[in-house]
Amino acid sequence: MVVPASPSVVEPLAVLTRRYGSGAPAVVELIRRTGGCTSPIRLEGESVAVSARSGAVLARQSTRSQAPGFVLVACGNRRETRCPPCSERYRRDAYFLVAAGLAGDEEKGVSPSVASHPLVFATFTAPSFGAVHRRVVDPSGGVRPCRPGGQPEVCEHGASRRCLERHAESDPRIGQALCPDCYDYEAAALWNESLGALWRRTITYLPRELAALSGVSVAALRTGVRVAYAKVAEFQVRGSVHVHAVIRLDGPDGPATAPAGGATAQRLAGAVARTAARVAVTVAGPNGREMVIRWGSQIDTRPLNTRSPRGGDGHGAGVAGYLAKYATKDAQSGGGLDRRIRVEAVIERAEISDHARVLMRSAFRISPRWAHNLGFRGHFLTKARRYSVTFAALRAVRAEYRAKADPWLAQVRARATGDQVVVRRNFHYTGSGLSLAERAVAASIRGSAPSPARAQGGGESRLAGLLPRARPAPGLAP
Ligand SMILES: [Zn+2]
Ligand SMILES: [Zn+2]
Ligand SMILES: [Zn+2]
Repeated sequence: MVVPASPSVVEPLAVLTRRYGSGAPAVVELIRRTGGCTSPIRLEGESVAVSARSGAVLARQSTRSQAPGFVLVACGNRRETRCPPCSERYRRDAYFLVAAGLAGDEEKGVSPSVASHPLVFATFTAPSFGAVHRRVVDPSGGVRPCRPGGQPEVCEHGASRRCLERHAESDPRIGQALCPDCYDYEAAALWNESLGALWRRTITYLPRELAALSGVSVAALRTGVRVAYAKVAEFQVRGSVHVHAVIRLDGPDGPATAPAGGATAQRLAGAVARTAARVAVTVAGPNGREMVIRWGSQIDTRPLNTRSPRGGDGHGAGVAGYLAKYATKDAQSGGGLDRRIRVEAVIERAEISDHARVLMRSAFRISPRWAHNLGFRGHFLTKARRYSVTFAALRAVRAEYRAKADPWLAQVRARATGDQVVVRRNFHYTGSGLSLAERAVAASIRGSAPSPARAQGGGESRLAGLLPRARPAPGLAP
């Protein structure tokens, strides 16, 4: 194989050669196949090719018989901050998953007829838990003062309720409470924690509002209409989660059938807005506190029209890209951490804002498991089962593609004429992560990979061509 002769690879290669001898190029190839994953896992074992007809073993391939004696599997971490190449792969999968539900994807078994079903892109915000510094941009692009007024001028803790600054985009004060004593951190953490329950209730109650707007009974509506959705969670700088979702109406038998009753995207948008304004969940917080969890008042719903890409409100590809991008983020944009906290002392040591620290402490008291996420339970991208394809299906397609490119398997398959070959893999874990030299190799592979924009793949650009261009997301206050 050809190894790029850039200085960053040559030196680590010398180190790898000292360690693996003639197996060094094979190690580089394994790292290349993970896409330059930052912390792959190391497996040893064997693949056994078996005849589907007779069950007879056709061939074996052991990692022991080949340099370097192990295989590497990419970590598959979704988070951009943890592993850029794995996150990029996840983002692309997320894009396909969302886009397939907007425009259909016959190859992956999603009926193209979904493109004509009523579809809404909605953003659900969190309510206010206290005043925070913010950057307010008016329609002409000018930045307005943060908090120009407030009666009375100081709060009961003596803090000013006013801030006349026009905050720059990079101002670290944005999202921080004007008065930490006034800010209800416990409620904010509890809200994040209850978001899943609030979402489920929203989807449950949506048909009710839709039935009311359609002038039919809920029972009648349910026989002819199904709700499908895909949603992502996005952390705001103040540490609260927003939800962006595409919500689609299908017929009684799912995506392949049209919804009954002549529902339109406009009517669906109206029903989503009404549901969001009304739905509530009561939860029990720490110290016997009861809290009613509701959406904030800023709800944005817009009908999508993926059928007529150049007209109407349609901007499906933009929406899919937008949702996919958030699927790879984590709580860090809201001041959280990208990994679980085992001991509370970590919160005090973490390099986070004071605002995030108080919120994280509150979240830790509610559930230590989700404190790093400021209470949020971590389902960044979720979807209704019938919305489109699954991540597992997309991974299976990729595995099948890789299997086709495997020369050993190709040979076995060629010999087994007229017989199906089943591969059983018996591998065990022997370690994870990379050595310093291996890390340098992985970094150079990442550096030479095509940029995400160019690496979007045929399908993605094909969809982008079908659908209108991306439009910036609705601008909502932090
Ligand atoms: Zn990885
Ligand atoms: Zn301010
Ligand atoms: Zn105060």
